[in-house]
Formats: sequence, structure tokens, C-alpha cells
Amino acid sequence: MRDFDLLLPETVAEVSGLLARLGEDCRMIAGGTALLLALRQRMVTPTHLISLAGVRALRGITYDPRDGLRIGALTTHAAVARSPLVRQHYPVLADMASRLANPQVRNQGTIGGNLCYADPTTDPPSCLAALDARLALGSARGERLLPVAAFLVDYYACALAPDEVLTDIRLPPPRFDFGHHARFHRTAAEHRPLINLALVARREGDVVEEARLVVGATTVVPTRVMEAEAFLAGRVVTPALAREAADIVASAIDPVSDGRGSAAYRRDMVRVVARRTIERLMAPTTPDRAAERAIA
Ligand SMILES: Cc1cc2nc3c(=O)[nH]c(=O)nc-3n(C[C@H](O)[C@H](O)[C@H](O)COP(=O)(O)OP(=O)(O)OC[C@H]3O[C@@H](n4cnc5c(N)ncnc54)[C@H](O)[C@@H]3O)c2cc1C
Repeated sequence: MRDFDLLLPETVAEVSGLLARLGEDCRMIAGGTALLLALRQRMVTPTHLISLAGVRALRGITYDPRDGLRIGALTTHAAVARSPLVRQHYPVLADMASRLANPQVRNQGTIGGNLCYADPTTDPPSCLAALDARLALGSARGERLLPVAAFLVDYYACALAPDEVLTDIRLPPPRFDFGHHARFHRTAAEHRPLINLALVARREGDVVEEARLVVGATTVVPTRVMEAEAFLAGRVVTPALAREAADIVASAIDPVSDGRGSAAYRRDMVRVVARRTIERLMAPTTPDRAAERAIA
């Protein structure tokens, strides 16, 4: 690892000013779980690291019934999983965060670092996209909000401008009574998902009124499958209907092909994960209590 100067700004405007001044010579660091690996392997060789740890505006989780949830970008995955506000209002998000990676990464890695690194094989993007999250990007020029789909643009590429920092993640007030984030690994030894799929839905009795379904980790950026959402809307889910909907999901995505799995294998497994997840909609309308399990 090369030597670097550590900079300790306290405001978003200061971070933005440093980014604008130092350009490619600097990198922001939050938990460091992704960046330190890149530094050690000399994939990046900045002369300056900008620590985000002292920027108070990036911290905290707040909830307002009219505005919804705000999660500061510096919030660790473990803090998302443990937050009573997240567990009460968005249990699917708490559940996803409680199962991601391993305890070390959950306690050190931040939700903001996860999104900004834009590694395709991660869990929060599909879950946040299903929940219709907006990402707040701050700079000395002001603030702009982007949906997850506009923020994540390619392999390890996101829509941050050179002088911007992700300040927080905003979720609209909850309107779904069902939520499930499924992860599929090829072997039990793997931490990262080969496939994940987030499904949230609002039901009236047995009828699905509205659904949002997003496939992640196996496509370059999370893929929302609106054809499957439209197919499910207004229907009562049966095993046969879940199979049909899963076929729609599997045909709609464009999976990657790499050493962890061919595109054909991934498509087949997405079909299985989608069917099993959609079948969960057959259970009676009750809040998803999965997040109340013990959290590491
Ligand atoms: C062994 C291992 C297993 C993992 N398994 C999983 C998994 O199963 N599921 C999963 O979802 N993830 C997984 N991850 C990824 C993990 O979630 C991320 O590494 C972590 O969330 C990154 O956050 P960080 O705070 O450590 O980011 P850092 O390493 O500090 O930063 C990562 C990048 O984001 C930039 N950045 C950080 N914060 C901001 C910000 N606020 N604004 C702008 N840019 C910013 C940095 O400049 C850097 O380029 C795994 C990681 C490891 C090491």
C-alpha cells in the first residue's frame, strides 16, 4: 500500500471542496472494507484519503410518517439491521441487512460505501430499489436526489459527480404489508450472493394489489421486472401462478456469465428463487416478522 495523507473534513461542503481540488489523487473512505482491499492490491493509489467519519450530516437514522425514512450514508449494515425504526417500518430492509456478508463486514461496512462502490454482487441495491429509495447526493453546489436505478450505472460505476458525496438514503412512507429479500449462494462458504431478489407487495385479503420485484447480484445493475409486477397485480397467487410469474422474471433479466456461474445457470436459479419468493405471497397478510430474529 502506498503512503497517503489522511484528511478529516467535518462538512459536506468541505468534502466536496477537497474532491474538486484533489480530483483523481484522492478517495473518500467510510468503513474501508472495500477501499482497503483496493489500496492493498494497488488497484487505486491515491495520495490523499478523505475520511468521512467526522461528517455529522452523514450519520443517523430518522423516521417521519409523512416523509418516510432517512438513513445516513455512514450507517453500518449492523446499525440498519438493529434500528428499531427500520425493523418496525421496513422489516424487509432490516432482515436483508442482518444477513448480508458476515459480522465483521456488517459492523464495519456502511450502506453508503456499499452503494458507491457499485459492486454488482451486493444486497442493499435490489432491496432499496424495491422500496423505491432515493439517494441524496450532496456537494458545495447543493443537493440532488436519484433513484437507485439511475445511481447505479455499470460495473463499479455510479452516477456520483467528481465533487459529490452520498449523504443519505431516503425511503417513502411504507405502503407494503409483505416484503422478502431472498439470497442465493452456490456454496455455504460464499459470503456474497450469486443471486438476490427483493419482492414487496400490498395485499387486500388474498389479492395482490401492488408488487415491486427487483433482481440483483446476477445482473450488472439491479433489474426491476415490471412485466412480473403487472402480471401479479390484481391476482390471487397460487403455485401455478407463481410458476408463470417466475418464468416472466427469468426471461426478463440479462444475467452475467462468469467464473461463479454461466448466464444459463443463473437464469435457471433466478426462476427457482423467484417462484419460491412469489409463493410466499400465499401466506396470510401479516407483517414480515423475519427481522425480529436475533441479529448479529
Ligand atoms: C468479505 C466481504 C464479504 C462481503 N459480502 C457482501 C454481501 O454478502 N453482500 C453485500 O451487499 N455486500 C458484501 N460485501 C461488501 C460490503 O457491503 C461493502 O464492502 C461495504 O458496505 C462498503 O462500505 P464501506 O463503508 O466499508 O466502504 P469503503 O470501503 O470505505 O468505500 C467504498 C467506496 O465507496 C466510496 N464511498 C464510501 N462512502 C461514500 C459516500 N458516502 N459518498 C461517496 N462515496 C463513498 C469510497 O470512496 C470507496 O470508493 C462484502 C465485503 C467483503 C469484504
